Amino acid sequence: MVRPTLRSGKRKYRKTVSGKITIYRPRKVAGHPKCAECKKPLTGVAKGVRSQVRKMKKSERKPSRVFGGNLCSPCTRRRIIVATRS
Ligand SMILES: [Zn+2]
Repeated sequence: MVRPTLRSGKRKYRKTVSGKITIYRPRKVAGHPKCAECKKPLTGVAKGVRSQVRKMKKSERKPSRVFGGNLCSPCTRRRIIVATRS
């Protein structure tokens, strides 16, 4: 049996040049991070598999403001206005 880490994920069967059929595991494709409220793609947020994002600089990963990497700027602005009004 294969390593436990290889048991999950997509599998594809590929034929090699010699005619042998082997399991090919395609790399994970990362989706674009989206806003939690309006579901629009977030700008200034790193896109990639978690292991790749961790290797980036902290400032490249997500904006350092409140709700950075979770909400887009118009949604953040709206939340702050609502919170400070009362
Ligand atoms: Zn939004």
